[in-house]
Amino acid sequence: MSKFKLAVIGTVVVFALLAIIVIISNKQTPEETTIEKKEVDLTGQPLLGQESAPVTVVEFGDYKCPSCKAWGETVYPKLVEDYILSGDVKFSYVNVLFHGNESILGAMAAESVYKQDPNVYWDFHKALFDAQPAANHDGLWITMDKILELADKIPSINLEQLKQDVEQELTMKQVNIDKDLYTKHHVSQTPTVNINGVAMEDPFDYEAIKEAIDRELKDDENE
Ligand code: CA
Repeated sequence: MSKFKLAVIGTVVVFALLAIIVIISNKQTPEETTIEKKEVDLTGQPLLGQESAPVTVVEFGDYKCPSCKAWGETVYPKLVEDYILSGDVKFSYVNVLFHGNESILGAMAAESVYKQDPNVYWDFHKALFDAQPAANHDGLWITMDKILELADKIPSINLEQLKQDVEQELTMKQVNIDKDLYTKHHVSQTPTVNINGVAMEDPFDYEAIKEAIDRELKDDENE
């Protein structure tokens, strides 16, 4: 073999070894994944629980979304029982408009109820989710008639005002605030459950939700 060939092979071998060393050292120091906390601005949003609660849970939901109804019936009651009643967690709900006109209609009605009497907001919120049909949820069901029928059972709601707010889109401003909020927080699916500024990967994993809340409560104690 000529000296030239040996030199070429030698160079190739050295480069190959260097490449392997670089690959191995890169593998040994994986980039640390830091989760960025981005707290949700809840100005003017409905609140359940004590305002002084150290942990804030926000649901980004849509009255037309069957998973949101399911979340409200399975995970949410546990949250109320374990954390909201004790004053550890305050809860809020932000409207998401992923299902078109009916999402907007439901959101405008809920905002009208909240504006009229914040104390009955959660009753109307629950009534609207309860009214979501189990079978054909994609079919038309959020209508002015349905909204008035549900609101009629809650004495402090002024039905004329509610009708006006929805028909003349008087609460669209509040709905758009919610839209800006979920856009800002990159909400791409409903429900999205956010705990002290961090969205949960799986909103139905209650154990993970508990862990996240307990971690936040511990951090709060240590502060
Ligand atoms: Ca809102």
